[in-house]
Amino acid sequence: NGFAALGLAPELLAAVADLGFTQPTSVQQQAIGLAMAGEAGYNDLMVSSQTGSGKTAAFLLPVLHTLIAQKAEEVAAEKQAYEQALASGDAPAKKKRTNPLSARNFKAAVPGALILCPTRELAQQVAHDAIDLVKHTRGLRIACVVGGMPYQMQIARLQNADLVVATPGRLLDLQRSLQIKLDKVQFLVVDEADRMLDLGFSEDLAEVHQLTANRHQTMMFSATFAPRIQQLATRVMRQPKRIEV
Ligand code: AMP
Repeated sequence: NGFAALGLAPELLAAVADLGFTQPTSVQQQAIGLAMAGEAGYNDLMVSSQTGSGKTAAFLLPVLHTLIAQKAEEVAAEKQAYEQALASGDAPAKKKRTNPLSARNFKAAVPGALILCPTRELAQQVAHDAIDLVKHTRGLRIACVVGGMPYQMQIARLQNADLVVATPGRLLDLQRSLQIKLDKVQFLVVDEADRMLDLGFSEDLAEVHQLTANRHQTMMFSATFAPRIQQLATRVMRQPKRIEV
């Protein structure tokens, strides 16, 4: 399987194989390699590619790969703390069962990765693809936040989400009402950036850019590199590597 050479986590390789993908597409080959390399471990990327090129997996796979590695570290640290507590005779803290739908148990979502899409349909498709890719992974949660859906259900699903796929309007609504915090976002992906600007999301993108100031990596996908896309790229990324497919 041509994906193995990209150094992806075995859980992801299994999911890719289940989907019947045997060779990475050109954009996947280039973007995954660059996204996972880079000096500080991460490269900002500006990618021109069309729908049908496999661009969705090109940004989902490297982001999920890192989230999986971080989750494994977290679990190992928790296990070690638990074992130390046992060995020192302290009764380990009991895990409380909580009902995420109860207002009393409410906690804001603090995702590590955010994918912005211009339309509800696209966001739902991307979230669907992400769910397919984490099917062999334990404990990684995907949430989709889009307009025209009941708030209550989205908020319940949002809790503990590691990766959020969103349209900008609803995302910022939830951010303003403190349902979601964006300061722990490490990875920001802007999908179909050209359509995003066409649909008037420029201000919203600027706001998300500010709210995710702690992030490590930004990837922008667009059908073209028109001047206004380049301006946006300059504003939200640091010396992005360019990929043209
Ligand atoms: P996208 O450009 O992300 O919308 O993907 C277009 C279609 O190609 C989707 O139906 C994917 O499931 C499929 N696809 C993505 N990557 C691969 C691959 N490496 N091999 C075969 N099909 C793929």
